[in-house]
Amino acid sequence: MPANQQGITPEAALKRHFGYDAFRPNQAEIVHAIMAGRDVLAVMPTGAGKSVCYQVPAVCLGGYALVVSPLISLMKDQVNSLEQAGIAAAFVNSSISPLAQRDTLKAVEAGLVRLLYIAPERLSRDDFRAFCAQCPPALVAIDEAHCISQWGQDFRPDYQHISSFVEELPTRPVVAAFTATATRQVRDDIRESLQLRDPLQITASFDRPNLHFSVKRPTGSSGPKSKDGMLRKIVEEHEGQVGIVYCMSRKAVEEVCDTLNSWGYSATRYHAGLGDRERRANQEAFVYDRAQIMVATNAFGMGIDKSNVNFIVHYNISLDLESYYQEAGRAGRDGEPADCILLYAPKDVRTAEFLINAGYGEQPGIDGPTRAELLKRAKRRLKMMTFYATTQDCLRKFILNYFDEEAPGYCGSCGNCETQFEERDVTVEAQKIISCVYRLQQRNRTVGKSTIVDILRGSKAQKMTLGGFDTLSTYGIMRDEGTRHIRFILDALVERGILAQVDIRDGQFQVVQATPQSAEFLRSHQRFSLKVPKENDLDRDRKRMR
Ligand code: ADP
Ligand code: ZN
Repeated sequence: MPANQQGITPEAALKRHFGYDAFRPNQAEIVHAIMAGRDVLAVMPTGAGKSVCYQVPAVCLGGYALVVSPLISLMKDQVNSLEQAGIAAAFVNSSISPLAQRDTLKAVEAGLVRLLYIAPERLSRDDFRAFCAQCPPALVAIDEAHCISQWGQDFRPDYQHISSFVEELPTRPVVAAFTATATRQVRDDIRESLQLRDPLQITASFDRPNLHFSVKRPTGSSGPKSKDGMLRKIVEEHEGQVGIVYCMSRKAVEEVCDTLNSWGYSATRYHAGLGDRERRANQEAFVYDRAQIMVATNAFGMGIDKSNVNFIVHYNISLDLESYYQEAGRAGRDGEPADCILLYAPKDVRTAEFLINAGYGEQPGIDGPTRAELLKRAKRRLKMMTFYATTQDCLRKFILNYFDEEAPGYCGSCGNCETQFEERDVTVEAQKIISCVYRLQQRNRTVGKSTIVDILRGSKAQKMTLGGFDTLSTYGIMRDEGTRHIRFILDALVERGILAQVDIRDGQFQVVQATPQSAEFLRSHQRFSLKVPKENDLDRDRKRMR
């Protein structure tokens, strides 16, 4: 480990400045990588504790850390709380006078500052680049790193200047990128756009087991089945508990807040149309439990660390699952059970489309073709959000898969698992699936999950005859079952290790193979029951027609 100016270990700094006894496992790995001079890409959900991962090294490394963050409005608070923890921190941004900015940079040069927060715009300014050439940071930490990616929900062109900035420095600092939302595509993009060097890559699980997800579909404009009727039921069921209701527009915030107050609840509101004073006052009323329910647009929540939120209602659909999950994730930070409920009305999707079109019409710094592409991607994200609202599958699985994380088909604690699944004995189905894998293996063939399903269902696709699959004895032995049903059982067999899924060709493809447990399963006539998706009317009709 390099000598550090302050002669203090990361563990000691954590204890001294933050009062924590130990790093969480991911934090320890990240901090020690940074101390050893290695780049980092950390994808961790909100609340996992990303900030100490760069704040502690900033104290121990010697020199100073440059923190790039898009959230100018939060910088002051972040710097204040660091100062309270006894860590010298500062920020320069357009909100402070040029004179004060010069003083701050002088203090950095004199070695009096451990963390300097800036917005990404500053990186392209000549005066700032000249300063950093004189006085380079030991660490560049990038917060909200997904903003660098055109695949992300928050693309900021200014983030793309980071790597040229780093390259021009006389000595290369350690570069550490942090984000709470990233699909694999965005992750790859971050690594490449920042030109990270052999980074330690940490991807924490996004699963939040104490959160219960559900989607409700209101009908009519009044009565118990309407949106307001459902909202009323939800707040009644959470009597005395703390919640946030997210709405798509300022107007909806005002209306819902008034409605809740008229029912006798202490609700307050937050949106960008309110003055600074009122926003802050309302936020504090909520944070200090003087108001039970916060009704807000997505402007609310960044930088708020309130652990006892018991329920989050989305009165309207979000524009993407990234935003939805971040907002829903503000519930249950204390580890207690919490509810995340989406009220889904199809007409909100049209409003969302309108907002997306309007939003991409006026993005500064983004040109024609790029803008068209961004618009297309934003619409695709909205489509996925709509799929979430209408899927019959496990909602937790849907979310985790969206973030490229594997998950079982049944979590047992989401609205869909509770209503759309039933316990069934699927021993015979499981035997047929395993036999199919054996028959393929006897012919030295391994294929992926969807081909196995196609074979079992006796698909007429050309690839069946081309591959000779239609001559297998297991071809078509499950032609009466639905694709989804077979796939569900196949997934469960893999999850439980009765079959194995392995990567081939450097991870480009995945194929299914038998394992010693497969043989054991068949030999011992083991019973296999599962919570499987209920047969819907469509499935039943299809069977009856045969
Ligand atoms: P993130 O930036 O990932 O959303 P934060 O950095 O805001 O997360 O940390 C989330 C919460 O966890 C904060 O209240 C923080 O004080 C707490 N925390 C972080 N690291 C630790 C730790 N090692 N031990 C105990 N609490 C921690
Ligand atoms: Zn579930």
